Amino acid sequence: MTVKTFSRGVFLPHYKEFSENKSITAIPLPKEVVIPLHQHTGAPCRAVVKPGDEVKAGQRIGESDAFVTAFIHASVDGKVKAVEPRPYFTGTNVESVVIEVDAKQGETAWQERDVSKLNIDQIKDAIKNAGIVGMGGAAFPTHVKLSPPTAIDAFIVNACECEPFLTCDHRMMVEMTDALIAGARLIQKVVSAPRVIFGVETNKPDAIQALNAKIAGETGFQVVPLDVKYPQGSEKQLIKAVCDREVPPGKLPFDVGVVVQNVATCIAVYDACRYDKPLIERVLTVTGDAAARPQNILARIGTPISHIIEHCGGFKGEAGKVIMGGPMTGWAQTRLDIPIVKGTSGILLFSQAMVAETQHMACVRCGKCVDHCPMFLYPNYIGTYAETGRFDLAAEWGAMVCFECGVCVYVCPSNRPIVQFVREAKRQIAAARAAKN
Ligand code: SF4
Ligand code: SF4
Repeated sequence: MTVKTFSRGVFLPHYKEFSENKSITAIPLPKEVVIPLHQHTGAPCRAVVKPGDEVKAGQRIGESDAFVTAFIHASVDGKVKAVEPRPYFTGTNVESVVIEVDAKQGETAWQERDVSKLNIDQIKDAIKNAGIVGMGGAAFPTHVKLSPPTAIDAFIVNACECEPFLTCDHRMMVEMTDALIAGARLIQKVVSAPRVIFGVETNKPDAIQALNAKIAGETGFQVVPLDVKYPQGSEKQLIKAVCDREVPPGKLPFDVGVVVQNVATCIAVYDACRYDKPLIERVLTVTGDAAARPQNILARIGTPISHIIEHCGGFKGEAGKVIMGGPMTGWAQTRLDIPIVKGTSGILLFSQAMVAETQHMACVRCGKCVDHCPMFLYPNYIGTYAETGRFDLAAEWGAMVCFECGVCVYVCPSNRPIVQFVREAKRQIAAARAAKN
């Protein structure tokens, strides 16, 4: 078996054993869901419901006329309690629709249809109407990503799940293989790609086997095993590993003839086309050394993480940190009433021991961050310039090119919070550029 990969990056402990063999289970509904109207890249939606309105699961509750946006839907049957700013996982407040869940939840009757009869425009409309976004974390609207201005010769299904701990994509590959392949076929049709390549890290042998068994004899479909290295699932690194093509700084995958979508997104595309079902729920992993019962769950969008943690048995021992997303790119949470959104792939519960805080120190110029940065940047310079307020120089050294993978932070012996520095630099650089225009 030939195993491919990219240059630099790091080999991390996997910590997948907590949940990789746990089948996906749907959790009970909470009493209330909080659905942010801006949980995607692009323009926020405006509410099209008001307090007191009765809503049904799948009903559109937020929309926008912008090109880059994603519609928002009620994830439950219930009554709108409020439309107001609510805390969001990034630490800001976001205008949200708060729905009191109807205890007598009806079964939603999704309309089944023959996906083989859908033409390209009908598939794109179904994706847009379903409010689908990239579910690997970036939450970029899928109907926009599937409108590339250039010819596409390869569609890559990002099946790496390279962050430690997370196993939801792995479980979906094993348990929902048919829907994944059907979704991939629909996307292949939309972008007219002659090749569909599933890039899977080799620590998921059962997923590789399941996919190979299903695509046997299918022209143009291929599974490419990838080394278990972080950040293998980042688009540019994935394209390099699978197609040996470099996406230049400032360019996008379509510039090199490639479209990438992750596993959960492909399945959501299938659901939208087959059942006319909007993106109102998702599979995520609840895990970590302080998770009492690590597992992979199916939960409605807007479910508070407190409800999910409680369903999974709460904390084992003293909680040290709660992270939404993966350990490398996720966001630490200071409150548990935050809702999960379309891009939430995991909730991590860590013990005090696992996240012992250490003071960061000055850069000792060891060069480790430079040796490992998958974007060939100089994180030491970017970090130091951002820390000292020289955002112009941070920009010159490529702060805007950094995709915040956290590799430099992981290898730094001085514990320098380079990603935090980069995020601040990006905010300042963007503000400075906006002020100029
Ligand atoms: S500088 Fe950015 S891209 Fe490079 S290792 Fe650090 S976080 Fe990753
Ligand atoms: S790894 Fe840390 S200490 Fe070493 S050069 Fe980079 S920022 Fe400086």
